Formats: sequence, C-alpha cells, structure tokens
Amino acid sequence: MKKISHFIDGEIYVGSSPRESLVFDPNTGAVQATVSLANASDLEFAVRSAEKAQKSWARVNPQRRARVMFEFKRLLEENMHELAALLSSEHGKVIADSVGDVQRGLDVIEFACGVPHLTKGEATQGAGPGIDVYSIREPLGVVAGITPFNFPAMIPMWMFGPAIAAGNAFILKPSERDPSVPLRLAELMSEAGLPPGVLNVVQGDKETVEAILDHPIVQAVSFVGSSDIAQSVYVRGASNGKRVQAMGGAKNHGIVLPDADLDQTVSDLLGAAYGSAGERCMALPVVVPVGQDTAERLREKLVEAIGTLRVGVSTDTDAQFGPVVTSEHKKRVESYIDLGVEEGAELVVDGRGFNLQGHEDGFFIGPTLFDHVTADMKSDQDEIFGPVLQMVRATSLDQAIALPSMHQYGNGVCVFTRSGDMAREFVDRVKVGMVGVNVPIPVPVSYHSFGGWKRSGFGDLNQYGTDGIKFYTRTKTVTQRWPRTSNANENAFVMPTMK
Ligand code: NAD
Repeated sequence: MKKISHFIDGEIYVGSSPRESLVFDPNTGAVQATVSLANASDLEFAVRSAEKAQKSWARVNPQRRARVMFEFKRLLEENMHELAALLSSEHGKVIADSVGDVQRGLDVIEFACGVPHLTKGEATQGAGPGIDVYSIREPLGVVAGITPFNFPAMIPMWMFGPAIAAGNAFILKPSERDPSVPLRLAELMSEAGLPPGVLNVVQGDKETVEAILDHPIVQAVSFVGSSDIAQSVYVRGASNGKRVQAMGGAKNHGIVLPDADLDQTVSDLLGAAYGSAGERCMALPVVVPVGQDTAERLREKLVEAIGTLRVGVSTDTDAQFGPVVTSEHKKRVESYIDLGVEEGAELVVDGRGFNLQGHEDGFFIGPTLFDHVTADMKSDQDEIFGPVLQMVRATSLDQAIALPSMHQYGNGVCVFTRSGDMAREFVDRVKVGMVGVNVPIPVPVSYHSFGGWKRSGFGDLNQYGTDGIKFYTRTKTVTQRWPRTSNANENAFVMPTMK
C-alpha cells in the first residue's frame, strides 16, 4: 500500500507519528494509500527548519525570489497533466476540472512573480526639515496554511505563492483526503530552486492543526474549510496572538430575473451547480427565479438539461462530473436529500441510489433537483456540498435580494438578467462578498482578491491579490532625519512637534 508522508527541510520526511488516515479512490471506493498524520514533534521539526530557512530567504532580493516563482510557473505548465491526473485520482473530479484547479493556482503564482513591485513601500521626502519618511513591507517569518480537500492545488498556491514570494517560510497542512498534489507542488518548488525549509508540507488532521495554532513561532495562519472549523481556527489562532484569515463554507444563490436569457442561464447553472459534483465553495446550489412564469419556464428547461448530464469516472472525458470525495461525504449529501423531502420540498430529480455500471462501489450521486424549497428549511440553510440544486421561488426583486443577504453564508451570488439597471441595483444592495452579473462562478482573477462575508469568512484580509501580500507582510515606517549641520534652524527639531 502506498504511504504518503511529509515534505520537510527539502525532502520527503516519514515522521515519527504512528497515526495515519486512509486515502480512497472515489471512482472505485477502494483504499489506495495511507497518509501520515503529524504529531507535535513532526511539526516542531518543520517549524525549526522553516525558522532557520526564512532568515536567509528574507535576505534574498525580491527579484531573485521572483525568479524562483517564474521557474515554478514553468514547471507547473510542464507537469500540468501529471498533476491533474494525480489530483483526479484522489479527489474524483474530472480531468478538465483538475486542470482548472492547477491553472487557477498557477494564475496566483504568476501574480506572485510581481513581488518586487508588490512589496515596494511608500516614501515622502521632506516631511519636515531634513526629515524623510518611508515604509517597508517586511515578511512575517514562519506562516502556515490549512487547506480543504476540494481544491488541493489552487488553494495551497493561493497561500504559499504570495507568502513565499514575500520572503516568508511556509508550513502547509493540506487535507488528509487528497494529500498527494500538495506534496508534489512542494517538490516542484524545490526543483524550481527554493531553498530547503522554505516550504514544508506537514500532513495531518485536527491534532496537527491545533499544534500549528498553538505554536509560538508561527506568526500567521490562513485557513480555508467549513465554517464551524474556520471560526474555531480563527478564535484559537487570534487568541494566541496570530494574524488569522479563515474562509468558511457557502450557499451561493443564482437569481434569475424574468428578462434573463434562459437557455444561457440553464447552461451556466448546470456547470455551476453540478460541476465538480457540487464540491466547490463557489458552486451555485440555490436558484431563485423571480416570478411564477420565470420559475415554470426555468424548471422545464432545467429538467430537460439535467437529463443530458453524464456522470462518469474522473478519467471519462465526456463526463460532466465524477464521484464525491468519500463514502462518508456521499452519505452526508444523501441524508440532506432525505431531509429536503421530509421538510416538504418537491424532489423533482432524485440522484440517490445512482449506480455507475462497473463502479458500483464508487462514491457517485446523480444530479438532484428540488423545487419549492423555502428559507426556513434546514436543507436550505445548511451547505450540502454535493450535486444538489434547490429552487427557491421569489415573487419580487426585493425578495430575491433578501434571500442571499439574510442567509448565514455570504460567499458568492450571481444575478442573471439583461437589464443593466436591475443588475446595478442588485450589486448595490446584496450582502455577499463576491457578486457575478451573468457570471455564475464569480471567482475573482488573481490580481483582485477572494473572500466571502458573514460565516463564509472570518478575519479581515482576503486571499491572494494585494490583500494576500498584505496578509503575509507587515509595515514598518521609518521617520529619519539628516539635518544639514550648516543650517542651525533645521536642527531645531523637538518631538512631537517641529518648528
Ligand atoms: P474541513 O473544514 O473539513 O477541513 C478543512 C481543513 O481543516 C482540513 O485541512 C482538515 O484536515 C482540517 N480539519 C478538519 N477538522 C478539523 C478540526 N476539528 N479542527 C481543526 N482542523 C480541522 O473542510 P473540507 O471538507 O476539507 O472542505 C470543504 C469545505 O471547505 C466546504 O465547507 C467549503 O465550502 C469550504 N471551502 C471554502 C472556501 C472559501 O474560500 N470560502 C474554498 C474552498 C472550500
């Protein structure tokens, strides 16, 4: 059986912990590997290695640090298909989605290549007699990232790209459900010229996360995962004096106004609701048609389009989506379908009991559609994170804006319309962090930044973009005085006021 371990101090490190977790092939249901779960002493080794490496890495000039990122980008491109195949084999998403996963991470690496410009400070010459003020952005030191299973390439790169480019050393704790790609990324960073210890991958679970949050050398923690855990990570990290950003779960709404192009909307909804088996924090699992007529027309087209979807193994290039990640997750999603029925929603298309011939033990769920879901149902309030689309009918634009605005999550939302006026009003009033106008999955490009509101994000700064650089650096502001000895008046300087 394959054993997956850590990457510390520039090489694979087996570790001292006897604890391990199983890694499945979601297509067949078989166990394909075990992954070590680090204990406090494994983490200690990684932190010490990072601490030592960071001191010299921070002194490497930014242009040379950027060269490592440029080379890493080239290696990602060269190894794209190998990485995507590895990713699909543990996650279950189809290869095209895995390529997208790597590509969106690569976009952030490209952004991080601009680090010499991004970390430049500000300067004021002549703020007073003989006085100049300038600010510099310094790396924090040793920082850590804890990532979820659903984007095992993109999310680690959201974090370690800006952090390392800015001169930090990084400890990555990936999801134990698909740990191989993060490990491979660390090997490629090493191949790109990153010195040993600057990027360490420590495999683990709750125990490892808690050791990271309590470690006094770790200065900042970036977390992405479900909301209850995000909140507890935020609280524990912050109470230990760390800088923390913790992104949580989501329940994104797609609002369909009566004037929307319904064929385009249905095609967008299929990809956004069912793509990657709904295991995306920017998926659109709730559709809100406005008005009875819009709802009826949309439902008819949706049912027809869902019938054309192909569910297959992750290597099936004709499949729109593959299995979910584990049998436990499959049971959870199916129990939410049961709950929706119990709560009185109308189950229009039922994906429970879906069987893929020859892969009967795989973790497959068919596309599911509910109609007449209401905001008081638990199945609407909770994140399901599977191929389940729920239709919540609205009677007015006001109600359609209120539904996502009042929801506990506020990650993404999209409005489908042909009216600029309506779209503008929607954008102004909706209380959600990332808004699409006819863009079903409005994940911002790498030079903007990613972050949701309410229980979708704890902390202040967003992921990547200039926020990412700010998160991994701190400002030092220098006020310096070089008086000209020939001018007595200029020497008359008293703090806090000057003459
Ligand atoms: P998860 O919360 O189960 O796990 C996330 C990370 O936390 C993993 O590394 C895991 O090992 C660790 N962890 C698990 N239990 C823990 C505990 N009790 N204490 C401390 N750490 C613990 O999430 P997941 O199932 O891997 O990923 C799916 C979730 O992530 C969904 O809720 C999804 O919406 C969310 N997500 C959010 C974003 C975003 O940017 N907002 C992006 C992707 C995924």
